[in-house]
Amino acid sequence: MSDRTELNDLGEFGLIEHLTKNIEHVQPSTVLGVGDDAAVIDRGDFYELVSSDMLVEGVHFDMGYTPLKHLGYKSIAVNVSDICAMNGRCEHVTVSIAVSNRFSVEALEEIYGGMLLACTAYGVDLVGGDTSSSLSGLVISVTAIGRVAKDKIAYRSGAKEHDLLCVSGDLGAAYIGLQILEREKQIWKENPGVQPDLEGHDYVLERFLKPDARVDIIARLAEKGVVPTSMMDISDGLGSEVLHICKQSKVGVKVFEEKLPIDATVTTQAQEFKLEPSLCAMNGGEDYELLFTVDQKDFEKINLMEGVRIIGHIADATDGATLVYPRGEEIFIKAQGWKAF
Ligand code: ADP
Ligand code: MG
Repeated sequence: MSDRTELNDLGEFGLIEHLTKNIEHVQPSTVLGVGDDAAVIDRGDFYELVSSDMLVEGVHFDMGYTPLKHLGYKSIAVNVSDICAMNGRCEHVTVSIAVSNRFSVEALEEIYGGMLLACTAYGVDLVGGDTSSSLSGLVISVTAIGRVAKDKIAYRSGAKEHDLLCVSGDLGAAYIGLQILEREKQIWKENPGVQPDLEGHDYVLERFLKPDARVDIIARLAEKGVVPTSMMDISDGLGSEVLHICKQSKVGVKVFEEKLPIDATVTTQAQEFKLEPSLCAMNGGEDYELLFTVDQKDFEKINLMEGVRIIGHIADATDGATLVYPRGEEIFIKAQGWKAF
């Protein structure tokens, strides 16, 4: 009777599955609940999209090196990104914070400054939230609400064999940014007098500290009349996200290693850390780029699209999910971006 299951036995995804398996929807308007980047609600002429994401001090950010204004910006950006991941447009957010008396009013003003900057950048209204005291760290929870035309929605489950696998922007930079911040923190801990050496790392640091939601890519796809057959955003790393698409679409995938978009500064910096650049792209998280598939008929449009790279194609489920190296060697993709408790 006194059985106790440890959270670590389930892991994050196992826990969500366990806790949500008995949910039964009673509202006819509920099109999709748990399982995608956002919930989908039928509003007659369009689908409403709802998504929540939480940032927790010590888990998602370190107060030692996170500028508060960037933190505010990022908390909005990552939520807008989840609405983009459904091919939708975010219109409203609510913001809930739990805060300890370690923080001053001025510090919270900084966070809100960043949030409002992001709201302006994305054309989103901040329309409410909740405020509580906290006995430990700072917690920021944001809910994003958006919309998408019914015939434009992109789920994780729609990829078909032979579809092209595409990614926006470049990958691995946020992970390298984090490695640099952690390195400088370690050095500072040992020699408190030393100033952090962040010179020349603007790009990777910004990618980690102040990511942007790819609303521009959503607009570009709409402009060219391309509706992805499946889509999600990359928060945990390409490898783990590709597996979500495979699982939910019941397909396999081939990702070509030489096609992975990696910024030159990431390649250089990865080598300095003795890391394989392509593994930073596969397993590093927090890039908030879009991963999507399109039908082959859209090849020309996608091939010419700025900021989008075709990195592979969808295969049969029995082929599994593999990373293909230039000389033909294939390795199975594993989920590394897995948050343990
Ligand atoms: P993302 O990486 O896009 O933020 P998550 O991995 O956090 O998505 O969540 C996966 C799915 O599980 C989403 O559909 C989310 O709404 C749902 N989910 C996460 N946590 C909970 C929870 N505590 N209760 C109900 N649903 C949850
Ligand atoms: Mg997501």
